[in-house]
Amino acid sequence: MSGVTAQPATALRRIGFIGLGRMGLALAANLVRKGFSVRAFDLAAGQLAKFAELGGDLASSATDAARDADILFLMLPGPKEVRAVALGPDGVLAALPAGAIVVDMSTVDPATADALAAAAAERGLHFADAPVGRLAAHADRGESLFMLGADADVLEVLQPYLNAMGTTIYHCGPAGHGTRTKLVNNFMVLAYCQLNSEALVLAQGMGLDLAKTLAVLTGTTAVNGQLKEKWPAKVLRGDLTPGFDMALALKDITLACQAAQSIGIAVPLGSQVRDLMALALNGGHRGQDTSALTDFWARLNNQALLRLT
Ligand code: NAD
Repeated sequence: MSGVTAQPATALRRIGFIGLGRMGLALAANLVRKGFSVRAFDLAAGQLAKFAELGGDLASSATDAARDADILFLMLPGPKEVRAVALGPDGVLAALPAGAIVVDMSTVDPATADALAAAAAERGLHFADAPVGRLAAHADRGESLFMLGADADVLEVLQPYLNAMGTTIYHCGPAGHGTRTKLVNNFMVLAYCQLNSEALVLAQGMGLDLAKTLAVLTGTTAVNGQLKEKWPAKVLRGDLTPGFDMALALKDITLACQAAQSIGIAVPLGSQVRDLMALALNGGHRGQDTSALTDFWARLNNQALLRLT
């Protein structure tokens, strides 16, 4: 659907935001910090209180956040929550005024993104999927990357808001292509998490110095973003508080494997990573950052936990 009128960034639109978790709070905080007026909702009272402290307005429910919104952002855990919040007679799509844009930034499956796009079109709304790349620490700093699936005129309207939350927007294609790109991205990211864990535990098993090994691995083509930016800041410092929660990572690799299966594409490495991540989650790492996979792997191999001193 087309026909969205682009306005200058100064013509402030009313923004609704649902889901103020680790990522949502960081993203919404950047909108507030940059002068946009945001009314947000989350089921967790503690997250609402943090948003109020940052100067954001609070809605009393998801539909209350949607009622007057010109643009509604969703940043929820996964497909189940997104469908529950968005669809059906009590969903936010039914509450939004005609012509509004709903932007799902959550990581979901292609079928959910396509269902939201179709339901939005039926109600005279615009839809974009804009899943988020890079680490939670980047979101804190307003340095996220967005993988946008949307019509070009919707992208034009969304640009100032996405620019307030991030530094990089890739227009991946029509609605639904952001989600598909994100699943491919996280398939690779999560495979690296397992690869990093195996490589570092192997290095320790061979008696190598962790800091020197890390310097080599991040100085050659072995490097990956997780190893370079995340591992030294999280698990290798003993900080297991979730930047990216292990349960969300398992959700993403599962969605990527299911998406592959549904179109007959083989991803044997992805299937293994999914199973290993499930074992880690159920093996004492629930509620921890994804990088805790390295602690899981060290324990399985009867090795000390790897820490930079
Ligand atoms: P999170 O679990 O920290 O936050 C989810 C929030 O949604 C919680 O505050 C929860 O209370 C709220 N919520 C759940 N159901 C709700 C409902 N029905 N109504 C209102 N609020 C509800 O997760 P997160 O780390 O912020 O991730 C959010 C999404 O972004 C996920 O899809 C995740 O896969 C994706 N993502 C995460 C990262 C990361 O590094 N953490 C990076 C990119 C993308």
